[in-house]
Amino acid sequence: MSPEDRELVEGRTPGFLTWQDYSWRTCCGRACVYLGQAKAEDIAPGGKWHGAMESVRAYCFEYSDEEWNFILSGVPVGAVGIYVFECRVCGGLVGFWDCH
Ligand SMILES: [Zn+2]
Repeated sequence: MSPEDRELVEGRTPGFLTWQDYSWRTCCGRACVYLGQAKAEDIAPGGKWHGAMESVRAYCFEYSDEEWNFILSGVPVGAVGIYVFECRVCGGLVGFWDCH
């Protein structure tokens, strides 16, 4: 990670406290900007962050559609966190999920 990206991650992304436990999302060789924790409607088809789900699923590619539906059913009650990032280079959405 470049010094500039490190400063972005450490200094300009308030409210994301668990990043040290995970690999910060990167795309196009750069650190992505953290957008926030998704609500169920954000990642549903047509939602503003639906595009991140491909990346989220790739993070745990072994799960079937059925298992994913079960996991995502926990999003509305806060049991599952979907963290969404945006690439500053290509504008793509990436993310990962975490079970509380
Ligand atoms: Zn990118």
